[in-house]
Amino acid sequence: MKIFKQIISLSIFSCALYANTPNFNVYNTDVHNAQTVLITLNTSNNIEDAKISLDKLHLHFFKNPFKKDEYYSLLPLSYYKKIEEHRIIFSYLKNGKRIFTSKKINVTKGLYKKETIKVNKKRVSLNKKDKKRATKEYKQASRIYKTINKNILWKKDFILPLESKVTSPFGTQRIYNGSLKSYHSGTDFKAKNSTEILATNAGRVVISQNRFYAGNSIVLDHGHGIYTGYYHLSTLDKKVGELVKRGELLGLSGSTGRVTGPHLHFSAKVHGITVDPLQLLKVLNILKN
Ligand SMILES: [Zn+2]
Repeated sequence: MKIFKQIISLSIFSCALYANTPNFNVYNTDVHNAQTVLITLNTSNNIEDAKISLDKLHLHFFKNPFKKDEYYSLLPLSYYKKIEEHRIIFSYLKNGKRIFTSKKINVTKGLYKKETIKVNKKRVSLNKKDKKRATKEYKQASRIYKTINKNILWKKDFILPLESKVTSPFGTQRIYNGSLKSYHSGTDFKAKNSTEILATNAGRVVISQNRFYAGNSIVLDHGHGIYTGYYHLSTLDKKVGELVKRGELLGLSGSTGRVTGPHLHFSAKVHGITVDPLQLLKVLNILKN
């Protein structure tokens, strides 16, 4: 609380003192939960150690790969983000002093669907062995997603992993037998068995293995805290550590893992937070314009 008060007072103080505050731009000030906010900053301001903070998230800026004098920061909002007005704190060093300013964003509830699923009880409650495996895989993946690779791995805009119809959108609330609640953490694309699944952009393979829920999975690290995932594949055509180019074949679609039929589950993480993957790709492709 004390720190927060300091930030507020410093913010007011700095606004009065520096009329010439460098401008940071919030591209999308009206956002839904689980969407990503794009913040850009012009480098001609000649400032040091610029940071963005929202609640417990403190993020740095990365160089916009498409523009010479621009930096950007992606601010991911969790699915469970409070639906209200939030204030993004922007700070930087000037003559050895940290200066604070802020901007408002309005987080509104995403129009996510609700789905009631009736399944066999055996499919809901896992046996000990499966539970242990799923937990281990979850922890392993969480560690990977929190790693922020500062090197940029892409120099082109993002593409879709396949050209197909969305069969189940991101964010749908899932109520299993009226008890277990979760939400759909990716976008499902229609993909009959053995459809080619492509890398949405250049990146490094960080997961290439069969996992309990996701089946055969490939996860790419694109750098800057951005990860994309391709699940339920029938084949894994890339190994961990391999560098892939945009549009390169990652594997063929399938129905591995806990699914009822073949499709592609496409997901994305930013700084360890699950976000709407298609909205993320849209936001990333703004960097080029
Ligand atoms: Zn899915």
